[in-house]
Amino acid sequence: MYFPGNFYPLASPLMMTAVADLPVSSAATAPEAFDFDELLSRVHAIGRDVLAVHAGDVDRRARFPVESITAMKEAKLLSAYVPVEYGGMGLNMIETSRLCEAMGQYCGSSAMIYAMHCIQVACVVHHAQQSAYFRRYLRDLVTEQRLMASATTEIGTGGDLRSSVCAIEVSGDCFTLTKKAPVISYGEYSDDILVTCRRSTDAPASEQVQVMVRRGEYTAEPLSTWDTMGFRGTCSSGFTLTSHGSTDQILPTPFNDILSQTMHPYSHIVWGALWTGIAADAVNQARAFVRAEARKTPGETPISAIRLAEVDLVLQEMRHNVYSLAREYNELLSSDSRESIHGFGFSIRTNNLKLSCSQRIVEIVGQALLICGIQGYRNDSKFSLSRHLRDSYGAALMVNNDRITKLNATMLLAHREGH
Ligand SMILES: Cc1cc2nc3c(=O)[nH]c(=O)nc-3n(C[C@H](O)[C@H](O)[C@H](O)COP(=O)(O)OP(=O)(O)OC[C@H]3O[C@@H](n4cnc5c(N)ncnc54)[C@H](O)[C@@H]3O)c2cc1C
Repeated sequence: MYFPGNFYPLASPLMMTAVADLPVSSAATAPEAFDFDELLSRVHAIGRDVLAVHAGDVDRRARFPVESITAMKEAKLLSAYVPVEYGGMGLNMIETSRLCEAMGQYCGSSAMIYAMHCIQVACVVHHAQQSAYFRRYLRDLVTEQRLMASATTEIGTGGDLRSSVCAIEVSGDCFTLTKKAPVISYGEYSDDILVTCRRSTDAPASEQVQVMVRRGEYTAEPLSTWDTMGFRGTCSSGFTLTSHGSTDQILPTPFNDILSQTMHPYSHIVWGALWTGIAADAVNQARAFVRAEARKTPGETPISAIRLAEVDLVLQEMRHNVYSLAREYNELLSSDSRESIHGFGFSIRTNNLKLSCSQRIVEIVGQALLICGIQGYRNDSKFSLSRHLRDSYGAALMVNNDRITKLNATMLLAHREGH
């Protein structure tokens, strides 16, 4: 239902529980200093006890994984990338990627929601700390464990992040903004959404800013539903967002810089990490299947074990590629030599990571299916790989691979030397 003329919180069927309203255990405080391995073990425990338990139902009903997000909040994971001085855990790119990979092993949709939230957090952490508004926001994010979503895709520009149709309209220190967004993951359940738009009504499509719109300050009129092949629990329906707020909510850095320095590399790394988690779970299932086969014929290595060795090699390559770029990006961020992040070389390598991971995940899950055979093909088997396979096909579409390949082709033609 749409409430015209006024700025209400998201309305039914969008009148869902804001994630910040979900209970957080009073004992859940971010540790002042912590052991990352201990944190990772805790995330695996949450994965086993919560994400994996509900993954089938989340997928079947294409419902928001409320149990997963509540558990993440209780563990203060929504502020894992927020610097320690605001109360966050101050994790780096590599550590955040490892959490995404761990979650991907239990529920692809929950891991994707977590990864997408972390991308938005990184945009604020990297590009808005000079603003008192966003410094306060980061503290609120820690205490309230607010869930952040993103609206970049737009009717008229599709997956082209570098241009917008909609424009922010500023009057005094207030703004209004309307965007037709065909895909906003967990838009009905998020607390805040970072929206891209032109910086003024007379600005060209490429002069963009990113604006935070807050629950209670926008209406969302449904445009499309989310009944898809995979990542069904991300609930990525489309909405016309109509929002208002204070100009303080505009990120102080031009979106072009946010995109090249943060959104582009960060997205492809955390997506690659969680896809690696999905692929690793498929390989684990294949391993369990081969072990069960091997027990039937003691002393003989089943033919499927050869396939297992082959697919394990591809998984290792995929994981290696993710962490190699995560390490490079982490070093660039900490060395403050941000110039290289703008370079063609880093950009092409980032795109190549996305292209290769989105292909590897389909290959690995497909090989695991071949190993498990009909048991993997069945929906009612403990070796079922249906959800993994359906999720894996979404990877190539999240910023379409053709679009990325064309960008790389253009950069390679302009770039004379090897990168
Ligand atoms: C699980 C999932 C979650 C998502 N969550 C969000 C979200 O939270 N927020 C958000 O804003 N978006 C989100 N998206 C949207 C996504 O990131 C893409 O932007 C969107 O799916 C692109 O839609 P499209 O394929 O129709 O459009 P396009 O990318 O425009 O592609 C359409 C077709 O045109 C071709 N094409 C278009 N332009 C070019 C070009 N320049 N060069 C070569 N080929 C081209 C492509 O090959 C493709 O066949 C999500 C997508 C998925 C799958």
